[in-house]
Amino acid sequence: MAGNQPYQAGRHFLQIPGPTNVPDRILRAMDGATIDHRGPNFEELGRRVLDGIKPIFQTQNPVVIYPASGTGAWEAALVNTLSPGDRVLMAETGQFATLWQDLATRLGLDVVFIAGDWRHGVRADQIAAALADDKALPSGGAIKAVCCVHNETSTGVTSDIAAVRKAIDEAGHDALLMVDTISSLASIDYRHDEWGVDVTIGGSQKGLMLPPGLSFNAVSDKALKAHESAGMVRSYWDWGPMLSANKGGAFPFTPATNLLYGLDEAIVMLGEEGLANVFARHARLAEATRRAVAAWGLETVAQVEGERSDALTAVMLPNGHDADAFRAVTLRRFNMSLGNGLGRLAGRVFRIGHLGDFNELMLAGTLCGVEMGLAASGVPHKKGGIQAALDFLSTE
Ligand SMILES: *Cc1c(COP(=O)(O)O)cnc(C)c1O
Repeated sequence: MAGNQPYQAGRHFLQIPGPTNVPDRILRAMDGATIDHRGPNFEELGRRVLDGIKPIFQTQNPVVIYPASGTGAWEAALVNTLSPGDRVLMAETGQFATLWQDLATRLGLDVVFIAGDWRHGVRADQIAAALADDKALPSGGAIKAVCCVHNETSTGVTSDIAAVRKAIDEAGHDALLMVDTISSLASIDYRHDEWGVDVTIGGSQKGLMLPPGLSFNAVSDKALKAHESAGMVRSYWDWGPMLSANKGGAFPFTPATNLLYGLDEAIVMLGEEGLANVFARHARLAEATRRAVAAWGLETVAQVEGERSDALTAVMLPNGHDADAFRAVTLRRFNMSLGNGLGRLAGRVFRIGHLGDFNELMLAGTLCGVEMGLAASGVPHKKGGIQAALDFLSTE
């Protein structure tokens, strides 16, 4: 690998919560000739991926695919459905919710940001209260959208989206529901249609096992209706030309052809394993990780049992210990990248990614690297985390 680090033997452990390890099958699939994106061969590929991505979002509606990082799909969701100055309700679950809120504000939306402590998920009761207040205003119903992050990658907290949907319905409010599933798609059960989500935002480089560079908007009929009258300036992100080109398996501009080869293969692989099995595997590896963390005597950022993420675990270091110094040791000594603390958690937290193309022995190696790294960097902890994880994995 290029860079200022000399070659380290063996496979690098890329245990950040995205980008994740890209399986060889996907790398091989991407290693094909870039073809004419207006030709007949492309059309077949285009139709296959546009169709095949739908079950991953658990939707029958269209899914737009952008050659862009997830941030682009955040922007696309907003500019396609809203008008300048529209009020949107967002919940501060962590750094990613904060970044989406910043983006919405810069676009000229009027964001109501429900404050959070970065250790809990979205509170449906707070959404319900904000919507009830909004309806009671003389201007009634100023809030046009509720935006939530399903799996907050900065904290390892998963939010209950069905509960948010219920809160919106019970308030009798007609705001759109937009959800970021970038780090939960194809890792944690996510149901675009059943949960009544209007726009779902996804990305390629996490549970989908692809390199960075693709992102997604799954859109409901209600979102498509909103698109007709939405007044925000948009061009590149416009769903209109995209959806009409997609009907013929094409794109209005040059798509990321080779990433689509990879997506094609990822869809096949997820189909072979079965989505339910994919979710169960993530849940099992996450539980083993949590048992290791508990045995080390360390605390997860997530404070509520049922909200702990199956895609990643964010771990607090004891006061006075620098998480980035610890991560530097795991990289230098054990050739493993762990996720850093983001935003207000910088330096205090490290994150173990356990999503994507990942299995028991990769987790065992990862946890060995963490436990050795804790010892090597003098972080107080109890021994036995690895053993607790192995005991769980070998009996369940
Ligand atoms: C990774 C991630 C993003 C950002 O995606 P980029 O591809 O870096 O633009 C947004 N939201 C969540 C929850 C993420 O995990």
